[in-house]
Amino acid sequence: MSGTTGAPMVETELRTKAPAGRAVPATTMRGASDHGAADPAHAPDQGVNRPRIQKVGVVGAGVMGAGIAAQVANAGVPVVLLDIVPGAAAKSVERMLKTEPAPFMHKGAARLVTPGDLGTDLALLAECDWICEAIVEKPEAKRDLYAKLESVRKRGAILSSNTSTIPLAALTEGMGESFAADFLITHFFNPPRYMRLLEVVRGPATRAEAVAAITEFGDRVLGKTVIPCKDRPGFIANRIGGLWMQSAINRAFDLRLTVEEADAIMSKPMGIPKTGVFGLLDLVGLDLMPHVAASMKATLPAEDAYALGLREHDVILRMIAEGRTGRKGKGGFYTREKGPGGESLKRAIDLWTGEYRESEKPQLESLSLRDLRALAEHPDRGGRYARAVLLDLLGYAASLVPEIADSIADVDAAMRLGYNWTYGPFELIDRLGAAWLARALAEDGRPVPPLLAQVGEGSFYRVRDGRLEYLGTDGAYQPVPRPEGVLLLADVKRRSAPLARNGSASLWDIGDGVACLEFHTRMNALDPGTIEMIGKSLAMGKKGAFRALVIHNEGEQFSVGANIGLALFAANIAAWGEIEGLIEAGQKAMRSLRDAPFPVVGAPSGMALGGGCEILLHCDAVQAHAESYIGLVEAGVGLIPGWGGCTTLLRRWAENPRAPKGPMPPVAKAFEMISTAQVAKSAFEAREMLFLRPTDGITFNRDRLLADAKARALSLAEGYAPPEVGPLRLPGETGRVALGMAVHQQVLLGRATPHDVLVCERLAEALTGGRKDHTEDTTEAELHALERQGFMALLKTPATLARIEHMLETGRPLRN
Ligand code: NAD
Repeated sequence: MSGTTGAPMVETELRTKAPAGRAVPATTMRGASDHGAADPAHAPDQGVNRPRIQKVGVVGAGVMGAGIAAQVANAGVPVVLLDIVPGAAAKSVERMLKTEPAPFMHKGAARLVTPGDLGTDLALLAECDWICEAIVEKPEAKRDLYAKLESVRKRGAILSSNTSTIPLAALTEGMGESFAADFLITHFFNPPRYMRLLEVVRGPATRAEAVAAITEFGDRVLGKTVIPCKDRPGFIANRIGGLWMQSAINRAFDLRLTVEEADAIMSKPMGIPKTGVFGLLDLVGLDLMPHVAASMKATLPAEDAYALGLREHDVILRMIAEGRTGRKGKGGFYTREKGPGGESLKRAIDLWTGEYRESEKPQLESLSLRDLRALAEHPDRGGRYARAVLLDLLGYAASLVPEIADSIADVDAAMRLGYNWTYGPFELIDRLGAAWLARALAEDGRPVPPLLAQVGEGSFYRVRDGRLEYLGTDGAYQPVPRPEGVLLLADVKRRSAPLARNGSASLWDIGDGVACLEFHTRMNALDPGTIEMIGKSLAMGKKGAFRALVIHNEGEQFSVGANIGLALFAANIAAWGEIEGLIEAGQKAMRSLRDAPFPVVGAPSGMALGGGCEILLHCDAVQAHAESYIGLVEAGVGLIPGWGGCTTLLRRWAENPRAPKGPMPPVAKAFEMISTAQVAKSAFEAREMLFLRPTDGITFNRDRLLADAKARALSLAEGYAPPEVGPLRLPGETGRVALGMAVHQQVLLGRATPHDVLVCERLAEALTGGRKDHTEDTTEAELHALERQGFMALLKTPATLARIEHMLETGRPLRN
């Protein structure tokens, strides 16, 4: 930002592409503009007990090694990244700065990575407390490297391999005792920043302290859920996930399903991501399959169900040979082609001819069933397919405990986090009924695993005295353990009744005098019920029901913003009074959050957009999950933030000590951010963009977010006084004219549509203080009135209604 008061120097850029709307995944949006925020924005979190690992080395700068190094750097820990190919590590870092979704949470993190060449820079590893090997999957190459590492590593430095398939015993063969004591397997999932699972395998000689140090570092610093696994092929997730994929492919061929049918059954009905199985193969690359199969074949006993099910399918072999390896290649099971009018047509492969045809929406009666058992019992192709795969998958999983892990809870967690399943295999068994599964297996003449026989008519999980318990291999139920310091709202909800509740939100007692306000609408969209619960919670707090409030939920998205479907409905029946009333009530709720006589701490994870962002802007502090995507995206649907978002973001920039002085720069900055619907793609970017303050905390492990937020709330509660909010000195008319000229420029460049101009006019008015003169103060009440007026005026335009309708229908912004 540059320039002086009132001059037309707005650094604004209305994007050529559509401004992002509220339902657009954050990863598709433009991130923070790099405005040179200095280090406070990137400081690792306060309050986290830093484990002993202060510096990390990663060898192998490919997909995984580079990604692991990036995540270490994201956490604020310096990391050396080496590769055998000269210059490869440096290139990896450069490449990662351009990759989407981004491996780095902010550009500054890249500076913590020191790239080097193995041949010349080996000595850099001497300072590292943990050296992670992520080179080619060949035992000899890995052991050669370990011999080199032995010559440089400092005493007691932990060594680990990211191997997917090589047994630990094979890796430590011929290495010395001290090597074996410091060695373990740390198996990350791709991409390492976003996948929350870290499988850890220790050997018989591995020091307990090394396991503890890696577990703590993986959990608290890198934010992973660390699952201990046995030294068995594929560990937990790939052993079970691999068998699932194999079964889902084989059975689709056997039962003659189309790829669309198979993916439709193998996704939502089972709680599996919508890529299903063929879509997932397109994503990871079909060429990976033969490698995985070969490695499993080489390491598993011949009578293992996985080994028995290994089959080659001509069509798939041909696709690989022709380079049709999926999204990275020339298309896969699905592809897109240009239609006669230039439109993009979705095509799918015919599994029998190998030719592409138009993609068809599957028409199976079984697809309408919500109950898993009803689906598995349905006689159509879809039902028979579901039954066959479920029997393969669940029978296999039940046969693998305790071979691959000691606890079924660990197996379920690994599948949820490593494959993004909603339910792990034992949770799926409970949904089907363990007895049903045992009978079905027996009916098909298949073995019933002892664990399944043992559970009988019972279930693998149960809730006793408000605690979730799982069935141990000894036949006794025991509590599902939580790592020390983890506080989950799900656990609170199991053991207590809400303090208050309506259809949109609930208030929970999370102990020590702290309450948690939870949203629970679809995507946590905010509606009148949410606003009502905010008011009710604050009233209860004022009466002394608690001494601090945390706003948090365990949904995928903290909140995608106000429910625009409701707004559209109200607008269509011209219920203007009701809508304006809701805007006013929302503004009041936001002010009351801030002005409450006790601290309010926001604890978001995932998207916090529009109204969700405005809630955070009015909290006294925020403890954000590192993966928080925060932004004011109202312009995407032809509106401006109406719940104090314009005013508060403006105030943040006005009070930012590093920003240039004068009334215009903060206005220009807020204008740029809101008019282009910028969304921060991490909590660190949110700090740079001032959606978060430098003092707001960042938590890497999502499971620790609520505990950290609660601790933060308690630390503020002592002697708490609400913030004082003074008036703002704004540029007024001159500023508005300046912004108008900047927008006009964008129109001339073809970057702004006529309706963008209208939205920008209203936004400019709300940010500059309207008709006021730059010598007068503007109060918050006046600014809120401008927000309301702008919002209402825009909502009454057909172009805004068209944008909302389009967003609801397609999830994408309309450029009109
Ligand atoms: P990759 O091929 O992308 O990268 C390997 C890198 O190691 C390359 O840059 C290569 O130049 C370098 N290299 C090879 N030999 C080396 C040596 N002797 N010394 C130093 N560098 C060397 O491979 P990747 O996919 O990143 O896999 C790395 C490891 O991670 C493998 O053990 C793999 O099984 C495992 N893994 C991969 C995934 C995945 O999804 N790709 C997931 C989990 C684990």
